[in-house]
Amino acid sequence: MLRVACASANPHKVAEIVDLMGGVVDLVPRPSDLADVVEDADTLEGNARLKAVAVCVATGLHALADDTGLEVDALDGAPGVITARFAGVGATDAQNRQKILVELDGQANDQRTARFRTVALLRFADGREIVAHGVCEGTIAMEEIGERGFGYDSLFIPKDGDGRTFAQMTIDEKHELSHRGRAFRALAEML
Ligand code: IMP
Repeated sequence: MLRVACASANPHKVAEIVDLMGGVVDLVPRPSDLADVVEDADTLEGNARLKAVAVCVATGLHALADDTGLEVDALDGAPGVITARFAGVGATDAQNRQKILVELDGQANDQRTARFRTVALLRFADGREIVAHGVCEGTIAMEEIGERGFGYDSLFIPKDGDGRTFAQMTIDEKHELSHRGRAFRALAEML
């Protein structure tokens, strides 16, 4: 199996990536002493590449990166590439979720459409890359619902689901529908 370093530093995302790709590549953890990468590209793919390149350089291995954004139609596609810092640099997930709820206050369900978009990028040590995209359409709930997951999961109701948020689903149910599940299954197909 191809030995690949995981470029994500977010433990929730790492757990999902291991779940999705553990049977396809031999995933090794990101070096713990590697500084956080400044994600200042203006696209998800650009940010995924910054993370992958940093880990390739540090390890000499191939690297697998993911970058994800939430696009809310009523906010003209925001927060998009700044999803992790929507409520400000260093914002917690709870602060980011609260900001979405405040920004959408008073909006009916049909005005709360949104999507998660993931770019999954495998960068080989020689500089070649394969890139796959995954999109999950849905709506932003009126309030937080569910205890599982991370990030915006308790606010996101996928369109192809049964009305539950990602935070109410098992991890297998989430993978079946999610942006990350779709992106990494597509990447695995390319390998
Ligand atoms: P990044 O891809 O690590 O830069 O994540 C961007 C932002 O999206 C962070 O605030 C994450 O918490 C959030 N996020 C990423 N993936 C998910 C997901 O699957 N569900 C909910 N929030 C997510």
